[in-house]
Amino acid sequence: MALKGTNQEFGRPYNRRIVLESVRLNSPTTRGEIAARVGLTVQTVSTIVRELEEQNYLVSFRENPKGRGLPPSLLRLNSEGGFAIGVHLTPLGIAAALVDLSGNVVASRRRALTNASPDSAFRILGTILPGLLAARPEGRMLGIGMALPGPFGVESMSFVGPTTMAGWENVTIRERLAEITGLPSFLETDMAAAALGEQLYGLGKRYSEYYYLYFGVGLGGALVHEGRVIRGAGGNAGEIGHMPVVPGGEPCPCGNRGCLERYVSLDAWRRSGQSEADWLQTVAPIFRNTIATIENLFDPQTVVLGGLASASVLDGLARLEAGLPNTVAARRGREAPRIIVSHGGEHAVLRGAAALAVSSVLSPRFGLMFAGEPDVLDGGLAA
Ligand SMILES: [Zn+2]
Repeated sequence: MALKGTNQEFGRPYNRRIVLESVRLNSPTTRGEIAARVGLTVQTVSTIVRELEEQNYLVSFRENPKGRGLPPSLLRLNSEGGFAIGVHLTPLGIAAALVDLSGNVVASRRRALTNASPDSAFRILGTILPGLLAARPEGRMLGIGMALPGPFGVESMSFVGPTTMAGWENVTIRERLAEITGLPSFLETDMAAAALGEQLYGLGKRYSEYYYLYFGVGLGGALVHEGRVIRGAGGNAGEIGHMPVVPGGEPCPCGNRGCLERYVSLDAWRRSGQSEADWLQTVAPIFRNTIATIENLFDPQTVVLGGLASASVLDGLARLEAGLPNTVAARRGREAPRIIVSHGGEHAVLRGAAALAVSSVLSPRFGLMFAGEPDVLDGGLAA
């Protein structure tokens, strides 16, 4: 569903993002097609496109003529028009990547580090981030985003247990990232970041209503509605892993028993000591009920499996679709499978973390400039 432009005076930054998003989702495309899609005149679109070309966000090109006449001028995003750094912190280590405007990972670094303390993590970042920025010394750097396991700000659930980062409460993460890089800094739970990356660079080009089930060390999830990641009142909407599924079941560090991620997560698999095939068989009933619950709650186009789990684990879970219970998903005219796998792996989260910084440039769905505020599109932040 394309967003529509506006003729209001304050709408110029909005219209520029509308045009950028239209190019990103439909590339390559023409000025006329954009105008029809977003409801602006071709003249307005052409003016905006000229500005965006001057700022190196867009590139126009022509295909080789096939018959008589000049082929139409086509537009695509300029991948090198801007960059952002994504950082992903897990109980197993730290990874960071320089990502371009199209979501390509230009350079990346990784350090294995069990339950990194804030000081050791920022010491490592202090050594690897300058190297990443140096991969594009002339590049326009839009910001740095960091993703780590949530939830944030919930006393009994945040920063406790094997699936979270102990010792990270009250750490001024954004300030410390900004100190190292001098860039605008963003922070998000890893599953919301992964879902944003998926929406911006992956399956979001085909789907706008889906549930993203994120296999980190624990289990998270995010509902994507009308192309936006739903974050909830406290930004913690994705804690599906703490949904109680087994009454009187295994104790969970959150204080409850029988939470979903005690059974369905990489941490649960590791604790089970089972082979992959045996574990998949063991968790199949709980996994299928989870999918059924998601479908009946949200009626999504599909449920996307992604995250840090290996492709074979994700594919194995997706094959459990065959035995799913009846839900509202069995509707007439259905197009997508009930479960699909996103094979982004670790890069999905890194791209998502970088997308926190890029999304305010690329789409009006994610970050809206207010009237009178300087627009980051007007020059960005030179490295
Ligand atoms: Zn729990």
